[in-house]
Amino acid sequence: MKIAVVGFGAGAIGFIERIKNSKHEIHVFEKSKDIYSSSISGMRADGKLFVSSEMGGDMEIDLGLQKLLVDYYLSHTDSKLVETGSSFKNKTYFNQFYREGFQPISSDFYHIGTDQLKTVLYNIFEDFKKYKNIHFHFSHPIDDITIMDDRTQINQVGDFDLAVVAVGRSGHALINKMINKYPDLILDNTKVDLGVRLELPNHIVADLNKEMYEFKVRYKSKTGYVVRTFCNNPSGYVVTENYGDFTTVNGHAKIHDKSNNTNFAILTTLVLTEPFNDPIGYGSYIAKLSNLLAGENRVILQTYSHFKDSKRTKNLYRVQPTLPEENYILGDINLAFPRRIMESIIDFIEHLENVIPGVANNDNLIYAPEIKFYSNKLNNQLYPHLKVIGDCSGVTRSIIYATAHGYMLGEEILKEA
Ligand SMILES: Cc1cc2nc3c(=O)[nH]c(=O)nc-3n(C[C@H](O)[C@H](O)[C@H](O)COP(=O)(O)OP(=O)(O)OC[C@H]3O[C@@H](n4cnc5c(N)ncnc54)[C@H](O)[C@@H]3O)c2cc1C
Repeated sequence: MKIAVVGFGAGAIGFIERIKNSKHEIHVFEKSKDIYSSSISGMRADGKLFVSSEMGGDMEIDLGLQKLLVDYYLSHTDSKLVETGSSFKNKTYFNQFYREGFQPISSDFYHIGTDQLKTVLYNIFEDFKKYKNIHFHFSHPIDDITIMDDRTQINQVGDFDLAVVAVGRSGHALINKMINKYPDLILDNTKVDLGVRLELPNHIVADLNKEMYEFKVRYKSKTGYVVRTFCNNPSGYVVTENYGDFTTVNGHAKIHDKSNNTNFAILTTLVLTEPFNDPIGYGSYIAKLSNLLAGENRVILQTYSHFKDSKRTKNLYRVQPTLPEENYILGDINLAFPRRIMESIIDFIEHLENVIPGVANNDNLIYAPEIKFYSNKLNNQLYPHLKVIGDCSGVTRSIIYATAHGYMLGEEILKEA
């Protein structure tokens, strides 16, 4: 079979790894000019891998396969250095959080770090390059796909027996075009996560960081919205993420270069019901409003007490931001976020304070906007010559789930042959 793989991220890696030894002719089209300079993706930042049945995506992935893929990535580091943790195996922590109304999420973590990820990608790429049936085409964005009865046409390139679309979140323009042309591909489209990133001194969360590195909990707030922690970065850095027409906040950590602060996201999940069907539009609008207040390419930074009391922050006190000054403005997030979201986040932090004293300190830092979009869930059973894998399919949200999704598709194809 002649197979096109559109995008070279986690999903594509899983798929190619599984079928690289077959006779299929594989062409990979990646919009970036090389493996390093890709668009927004966790394959280029942080590299926290986790094994869990409770998070990472909305599909079932055998824990054994997840661990196999973690080992696959770790085997491609040069140093084999990794930070690990197991969240909520320790029953004392589990009970403390549970008592306060939180739902603790269990998982095993393996943190590679932004600095080491480059080597991992490079080593994987060098391995794939050795295979004569695999052809890489960088600087090759694909902007349209046409599905035919017996093949799929990649518009700028030609016909393929199978097109595997693995463009992640950053490939939303291609996905939007596809779903406009083939609206029956959409199975579901209702959610967006909107929130903030909290930054605080390491010592407040030192025990928790040591015990589990990443603590993930969900909490049903007084507004009815479910709020969760996401992407904890011990000794990490806050960064901005540029989506082209708006800027959001994110965080990461390195394996060698450590800061004195920990940051993590606090996200409120909004499930928007009919007739509304544009959660991405809604999230983007709030992000743009925040940017309008902060200035182009900047996010809003506020101390927790001002966030709670709806006052503009003018000075910081003990906690110094790891985000460079040119990337933020001291301001008031209340001017951009709807009240129901603000109340949900404050309720969450106040309850977290009862489990981790110091989390709600007045001078802790809050950055906004932090947004996580859920891609439309797409139907992979509809067209035999088109498969959509990884985050752009709407069923994965993590490196291991996206890699596994690709790997499982590879397995299916090998079985069919
Ligand atoms: C900043 C950040 C940090 C993250 N940290 C983590 C983490 O620590 N752990 C974790 O599990 N998950 C993390 N994630 C999520 C994780 O990155 C994704 O879930 C995972 O990479 C999804 O894999 P994918 O193959 O679907 O997409 P990606 O890995 O994003 O790959 C998609 C590829 O397609 C390319 N592409 C896009 N459009 C086109 C086009 N039109 N034509 C050709 N190529 C195209 C992109 O350049 C990219 O290389 C993070 C995400 C972000 C944004």
